Amino acid sequence: MNGMSADARERRPEAGRPSSPDSPSSGLADLHLHTHFSDGTYSPEELAGCAAEHGLSAVALTDHDTVEGCARMAAACAGRGIEFIPATELTSEYQDHELHILGYFLDDTHERLLRELARYQQVRQDRIRKIVARLNELGVPLDAEVVFKIANCQAPGRPHVGRALVQEGYCESLDEAFKRWLKKDRPAWVPKFRVTAADAIQLIHEAGGLAVLAHPGLNRADEVIPALVEAGLDGIECFHSRHSTAMAMHYLQVADRHGLVATGGSDCHGMNKGQPLIGTVKLPYLHVEQLKERRAKRLAASH
Ligand code: AMP
Ligand code: ZN
Ligand code: FE
Ligand code: FE
Repeated sequence: MNGMSADARERRPEAGRPSSPDSPSSGLADLHLHTHFSDGTYSPEELAGCAAEHGLSAVALTDHDTVEGCARMAAACAGRGIEFIPATELTSEYQDHELHILGYFLDDTHERLLRELARYQQVRQDRIRKIVARLNELGVPLDAEVVFKIANCQAPGRPHVGRALVQEGYCESLDEAFKRWLKKDRPAWVPKFRVTAADAIQLIHEAGGLAVLAHPGLNRADEVIPALVEAGLDGIECFHSRHSTAMAMHYLQVADRHGLVATGGSDCHGMNKGQPLIGTVKLPYLHVEQLKERRAKRLAASH
């Protein structure tokens, strides 16, 4: 857990922060956050409260395969004077790698986006049933309805199965649930049908957003990056709670080489794994400005 914090970057002159504390450009951002609209535990209102406590001036909500929480998060952030960026984190694939593509500044009412997300969500719900069937075969009599009740959202995922397994007394912790059953290549793991990364990037662009590769340090598949750039990738998440400082530095260079915007966020899921991660990655607002510049260029080019 060594996401490079802005505090470290702020000391570097090249971070380019303006000196006036009153400037709107002087804040700190977290561009990777989840709520209970996917597999986080916080409500949008609780998350906005945490963001305020940590002194964040801009946040993005990046729930998996949904934008449902965006309207409430926008209102909660407005009430606290925090800038809100509507977003999502799409599950996609490229050559056997599961890649998460973040979509920032998208129109969370865009028709085709909502239609496609409904399809992604159906895939997630079907997968939960398959995972539970696998568990049943393994002698764990979990009921899929218990998982859906815990998830209480359109985009359920393995963490909800894990929570159900803990709640029903089949294991002690979420971590144990993943290690015993749910991780890739464990006995209840079920592959998820995914769209290609190029389709995810195109969908984000169609909805007026910018496409950013999430936590590349967790994929360890840098060889995929040129193809994503070719497909229109706009940015790469350099700062992440599970990136070491060396990884962050490495991906800053990758961003520079490919002309990508460097972004960052904590990937906080609330109280899922003990301490919430919000506050562990604080991105200088300069990066948000760079995203906005990129977006303005994209919009100008499409007209
Ligand atoms: P899914 O989208 O259903 O494939 O679930 C993926 C989510 O599970 C990730 O976004 C993480 O939040 C979570 N996750 C992955 N591995 C683990 C783990 N070992 N322990 C707890 N949560 C995990
Ligand atoms: Zn998640
Ligand atoms: Fe992710
Ligand atoms: Fe995430």
